[in-house]
Amino acid sequence: MGTLHPGVSGGTARFDPAVTKVRLRCERTDQDRESSAHERTRTGAETADVNNAQLDPGDIAALFDRSRLRMARELRGLTQVQLAREAGSVTAASVSQFEKGHTRPATATLQRLAVALRVPLSFFAAPARPPAQEELAGFFRSLRSTSPRDRQQALAYVHLARELALELEKYVALPTLDLPRVPLGEGPSLQATDIEQAATQVRRHWNIPDGPIPDVVRMLEMNGMIVVRFKVSIEKVDAFCVNFPDRPVIALGADKGLRDRSRFDAAHELGHLILHGNQSQIGDKVTEGQAHAFAAAFLMPASDIKHELPTQLDWPTLLRLKAKWHVSLAALLVRAKTLGVMSEHVYAQAWKALSARGWRKIEPGPLGNPEVPVLLQRALKLLETTGVSYSEFLRRAGLPEADVTTLLDRDVSERPRVQL
Ligand SMILES: [Zn+2]
Repeated sequence: MGTLHPGVSGGTARFDPAVTKVRLRCERTDQDRESSAHERTRTGAETADVNNAQLDPGDIAALFDRSRLRMARELRGLTQVQLAREAGSVTAASVSQFEKGHTRPATATLQRLAVALRVPLSFFAAPARPPAQEELAGFFRSLRSTSPRDRQQALAYVHLARELALELEKYVALPTLDLPRVPLGEGPSLQATDIEQAATQVRRHWNIPDGPIPDVVRMLEMNGMIVVRFKVSIEKVDAFCVNFPDRPVIALGADKGLRDRSRFDAAHELGHLILHGNQSQIGDKVTEGQAHAFAAAFLMPASDIKHELPTQLDWPTLLRLKAKWHVSLAALLVRAKTLGVMSEHVYAQAWKALSARGWRKIEPGPLGNPEVPVLLQRALKLLETTGVSYSEFLRRAGLPEADVTTLLDRDVSERPRVQL
């Protein structure tokens, strides 16, 4: 049994789902949710901030934000030594001192760093908001297949996605963050029934009707999370999320061009945010299993799907359910076993058949392209209707255009067009 978070229930109180409902906590009240579910515009007059002013290089050096330097370096996948070499006239030790905040770069040094890092000089000016906590490391999976460099680069993109969202919010209202959390201490982990209940409560909280969820990514965006899908360059990084208190970001890999897998990934990351939002160490077997269990329960609620699942190995029925629920055959089989519909024996047979037919790699009944995040792109389009062009916005925000374009790229999930 899991214990409630200390301070919430007295630290060691047993959490019994039969007695106590999983407590869901909203980051903000949702009274404004209805009206802000769709982006609406704000007047440009509200947007005055430090970046709007024409800053000269000396001003920017005075406003230098060390976390921006590190972010830019990691976006480029450079070590401190490599950056020092690229920039010239600066040592790796100095770069390290700048990033730690022990010393600040002189204007000329900062200009060289900006050129070497291919970011506008204003990128280094401190944003008018508290910086992201440095310990927000992201909830990574498949760490073994990812090099630290790739991981840091992916993380830097996610930090940039948050910056982009916060900058956009100065002009257009994004959906209010409405992310319920299950308070969970460092103690024993949640049981399966707790996780099933949490998934049910999140669906209720977000007013998701019974049955399949038409678009998981859209559901996350409607509730204020930022979702990005990576381009090929960092495809080795699997899906992961970073629990920023203002705008949690979920990153989905580009390498899984499969709708069912991508939906499951998105639901899995949501599971981390909901179940493990207060924990710093994520990625072990237990938390991974919990996020998987959450995803399965969120996508396939027991009350809806239990009576539809076959007790025997029945591929036509499973394929029909795959098309209906937009989940993989593998996920359906696991769900059938978890819910006790399919015996261990039948499940083992099914898994053997799945392997023998090569269906663990490529399943029959493909569901098409993965879901596409739209929030950031739509916000940018809306921004342009307020009279602020894309390039003017980037200039004011001091964001590097190439990286923002990378973040917004949709090519990986769009079907190729037939040329006539
Ligand atoms: Zn995970």
